[in-house]
Amino acid sequence: MPAPNIDTIVSLAKRRGFVFPSSEVYGGLGSAWDYGPLGVELCNNVKQAWWRWLVYERDDIEGIDSSIILNRLVWKYSGHEATFNDWLIDCRKCKGRFRADKIVDNKCPSCGANDWTEARPFNTMLQTKLGAVADDDPTALAYLRPETAQGIFINFLNVQTAMRRKLPFGIAQVGKSFRNEVTPGNFILRTREFEQMEMEYFVSPTAEHSKLVDYWVEQYLEWFGSLGLNRENLHLYEVPQEELAHYSKRTVDIMYRYFPEREKPWEELMGIAWRTDFDLGTHSKNKLDAEGKRINPDSTEDLSYFDEAAKQRFYPHVIEPAAGVNRTVLAVLMDAYSEKTNDKGETRVILKLSPQLAPIKAAILPLAKNKPEIVGMAKAIKRSLQPVLRAVYDDTGGIGKLYARQDEIGTPFCITVDHQSLEDEAVTVRDRDTWEQERIKVTDLAEHLQKRLKPFPVPESI
Ligand code: ATP
Repeated sequence: MPAPNIDTIVSLAKRRGFVFPSSEVYGGLGSAWDYGPLGVELCNNVKQAWWRWLVYERDDIEGIDSSIILNRLVWKYSGHEATFNDWLIDCRKCKGRFRADKIVDNKCPSCGANDWTEARPFNTMLQTKLGAVADDDPTALAYLRPETAQGIFINFLNVQTAMRRKLPFGIAQVGKSFRNEVTPGNFILRTREFEQMEMEYFVSPTAEHSKLVDYWVEQYLEWFGSLGLNRENLHLYEVPQEELAHYSKRTVDIMYRYFPEREKPWEELMGIAWRTDFDLGTHSKNKLDAEGKRINPDSTEDLSYFDEAAKQRFYPHVIEPAAGVNRTVLAVLMDAYSEKTNDKGETRVILKLSPQLAPIKAAILPLAKNKPEIVGMAKAIKRSLQPVLRAVYDDTGGIGKLYARQDEIGTPFCITVDHQSLEDEAVTVRDRDTWEQERIKVTDLAEHLQKRLKPFPVPESI
């Protein structure tokens, strides 16, 4: 049973230290969010799982970390200055302003009227100024990147040469992106500052691009499965031709059921796009247009590739899986949410996070906090586990409360130290999902936990 709606997660996230509304002491900042002690761990674990999966476990992908602010010409030639627009419309009745493509049945979401202004473009790149310049100096204008991808394209040749790569190979990057969204909202689903995990997979112009899109869709469905997402809550959307971005010949979006309570429950979790050779071509000094004119007179490099075997030079094509960290975190939280009734008839929330994502892997709880030997032993166990896995010590309540708190934040194991532990050097290990307990020798504890902290197996149905 996943969460019934996003609001359930918003309140859990605030209560338990995952996500707080940003700038709350000043009344907030239009749907910006801050990640608390557990949220930052969860985000880091998602990003690390992604990096391990692509950069470490595969042999064909390198990682980079490029700047957030790039030369403005990058955004001119990428097409973002001219086309990275949302279409705005205003409701003439209530003066509300909305994204035209998000309006359902032509009805104003605020007042229900159907009286709109003409749609007009609004560039959603966030602007800033570089250096100590006058307010109106146009040469100082710069943008905060709206996607991490361009930082990869302009480094294609650097990475390919430095790492002696041959096609096909990919470059992965994770980092912040910024978009001046017209209508941010739905918690961390749509914000103006967010994090992306993008990978550009470079292939020959004669590769089977559409098949490669399918391949990466399958790979990501499996990866989301390993993070604990149920396949039933994922849905594929083949983006129609008229909705494709200017660089794309085919895009498939993986949607997640973020709104189970609504008639339209799906929203994009990530997209997999065949970006053709548009990006490498557009940033290259030698690329010519149909009339034989250089398309980029500003570039000093040519981002083409020489294929030794075919003795041919060309601009590689790109397959791009682009996922959001925040939307992945929200999907993971919603899917992990469950409720269970204990033998006293009380309902408990259990966050069944995949062990690899759980912010805390083990909580060490002393059964008697006024007994120095028990407290000492519990703290020593916490310290001994810490180099191997994230562990915490907690004695701020009765054992029932402590268990409930750890269940609600998704800690896979609670370890209790009791009177008997002082005699037999063993502790009780309680499983989050089954509430079963077993007695384990302290000397075997680290190995025992590590064995059980493996990622979820990929479900058969995928
Ligand atoms: P949407 O149609 O929802 O605005 P998009 O198609 O513009 O998204 P992409 O440009 O494909 O998004 O970006 C890749 C991924 O980055 C998205 O699938 C999403 O996970 C994430 N992302 C994009 N915009 C935002 C945002 N404003 N807030 C949070 N995540 C975002």
